[in-house]
Amino acid sequence: MHIEDLVEGNLKGIGPKKAESLQTLGITTILDLLTYYPFRYEDISEKSIFELGDGEKTTLKGTVIAEPSVQYYGKRNKLIFRILVEGAVVIVSFFNQAYLKKNIETGQDIAVYGKWDAKRKSLTGMKILGSIQKGEEFAPIYHVNKSVKQNELVKFIKEAFDKGYGVLIPENLPKVLREKYRLVDRKKAIYDMHFPENNQAHDQAKRRLKFEEFFYFQMRIQGLRKQEKSTSNGKTILYDVQRLKDFTHHLPFELTGAQQRVTNEIARDMRSSEHMLRLLQGDVGSGKTVIAAIAMYAASTAGFQSALMVPTEILAQQHLESLNDLFDPLEIHTALLTGSTKAKERRQILSELANGELDILVGTHALIQEGVDFRNLGLVITDEQHRFGVNQRKILREKGQNPDVLFMTATPIPRTLAITAFGEMDVSIIDEMPAGRIPIETRWVRHQQLPTVLDGVKAELEKGHQAYVISPLIEESEAMDLKNATDLAEELKVHYGESIHIALLHGKMKNQEKEEIMQAFKDHHYDILVSTTVIEVGVNVPNATVMVIMDADRFGLAQLHQLRGRVGRGSQKSYAILVANPKTEHGKERMKIMTETNNGFILSEKDLELRGAGEVFGTRQSGVPNFLVADLVADFNILEVARMEAANIWQEEKWWENPAYQELAEDYANGVTGQSFD
Ligand code: ADP
Ligand code: MG
Repeated sequence: MHIEDLVEGNLKGIGPKKAESLQTLGITTILDLLTYYPFRYEDISEKSIFELGDGEKTTLKGTVIAEPSVQYYGKRNKLIFRILVEGAVVIVSFFNQAYLKKNIETGQDIAVYGKWDAKRKSLTGMKILGSIQKGEEFAPIYHVNKSVKQNELVKFIKEAFDKGYGVLIPENLPKVLREKYRLVDRKKAIYDMHFPENNQAHDQAKRRLKFEEFFYFQMRIQGLRKQEKSTSNGKTILYDVQRLKDFTHHLPFELTGAQQRVTNEIARDMRSSEHMLRLLQGDVGSGKTVIAAIAMYAASTAGFQSALMVPTEILAQQHLESLNDLFDPLEIHTALLTGSTKAKERRQILSELANGELDILVGTHALIQEGVDFRNLGLVITDEQHRFGVNQRKILREKGQNPDVLFMTATPIPRTLAITAFGEMDVSIIDEMPAGRIPIETRWVRHQQLPTVLDGVKAELEKGHQAYVISPLIEESEAMDLKNATDLAEELKVHYGESIHIALLHGKMKNQEKEEIMQAFKDHHYDILVSTTVIEVGVNVPNATVMVIMDADRFGLAQLHQLRGRVGRGSQKSYAILVANPKTEHGKERMKIMTETNNGFILSEKDLELRGAGEVFGTRQSGVPNFLVADLVADFNILEVARMEAANIWQEEKWWENPAYQELAEDYANGVTGQSFD
């Protein structure tokens, strides 16, 4: 859709120079201008003057009832005029702004922002919001800059509507939906975003535009879902039911109810001819690895190969070991492929992949690179990899393989995100921990209490346990990160002396070096591992019972939860100590919440609430767009409805040929509601 560029002559007062200025606000077309919404309104109708408290800031709307006068006191002056508000006379005064006098005329309706003096029934004016029209309750306030002024923008927008450009805004929601949800039409909504007659009109405008934004987003997601899941893409993996049963019965533990349930969900997907696209969420330690093992084993009994992809080499190594343990003594052939696999070994692996000798390949991104060709890839699982997105899936498709896909993540995803960023997937949730786990005890202490903390750590070490100490997160600078971790390790060495062995792990190290240190820590050659957040995901050292996190308030709640999940993996009681002196109430609240719950899902919802959607989702990578009017958290109900409606429409074959959806057809043809998502 396109409504005329802002070229000379379209609107009064806009020449080449002004057009350029408007561009600095991102406005290049008249449509841009019309949809450049105010970020707030001076709400003139909000409170009656009889309810206003003394000293309260407010905007009053009234009629000027007498010529303004100016009093001079030496160098200073005071402009005074009277307005009639709600039948009462209110005196408005501006200090040292005599020049405003020429803007004020008797009989004019005016809105003034200022500070209310309840005793004198007067307003100390701070800003004149301009003359307003009868019935107008709101003065829109826009983000502007030096080259475009507030009232100029208002003037342009008004003129664009006056000239009838509003008519050019096509309706883009089907009538059935507008009627069902009583949504105002698009033209009216856009107009009322700027100049609503009253509160209600404004609310209706917002509701309509929020729905539109979410609906269009969900049309894209649901289109993608349909395409991704289509039968023509799918693999029917007819696994051997009996062998799979035997396998699960011989596991070293009994599956929890939740594990059983998600195993069934996955198995059903694999058997079906539909393409599997499933997100498996389970808190840290809920036992996702064994689910992956079961699924991959199932694939192997049907003659399919599987790949397990993880973000780091350490994790890949660790997964391979756990899998080999679980598969012992079965004849399942596994291998590890990462960036640092030696050329000779790599050649060997690739040849075994191609001839089908290998059943399962575990590795990092190296798995989906050029030259890695499977004989019969049926299943790809990614672990702890919530960024493995649309692009990588495309790579897999383009390789001519279209395996079933399972994403596993321990970063609990609030439902909002699950149905936005991952909206095209099915979701399985493990909401139950294996029995017998001792919950991690989390404490929050101030920096001043560090000596006590260090004594506590020592006591744990004396019991033969191990500890992690996480250095502060310095996002801006890797160099600082490194320096901090190094300094911290040195300080601890000085503090504890030689009898306690301390290792350092940081992001700048070579992979091999990292692995050696991790392995040495696992083998208890070290008592304390000082680390930057590189150990965040997946590392498993059951003997570690303490985690100290320095400047914990710099981390997101989800990240803290991930970090503390590194302890409490054995049979001993474990502790997470958050060392932080947060400066804000928010910061304090976040630390407190960490001590109060061990439930990752509750934390992620809280995080979203406290930090807002933009911050938590990191927008771009997560594939969640920036919505103009809608808010993912606050408008969640609308999102759900929009999603349901979009999914319904996509149920219909060739919905775009149905006249009931003609309003969507043009956008579909242009790919706006179409199938391309990248
Ligand atoms: P995560 O979901 O964080 O990846 P893991 O798969 O690493 O968790 O499992 C954590 C630990 O719990 C492992 O040592 C695993 O063997 C164990 N575990 C998994 N499922 C069960 C179960 N049903 N009963 C007892 N222990 C289990
Ligand atoms: Mg795991």
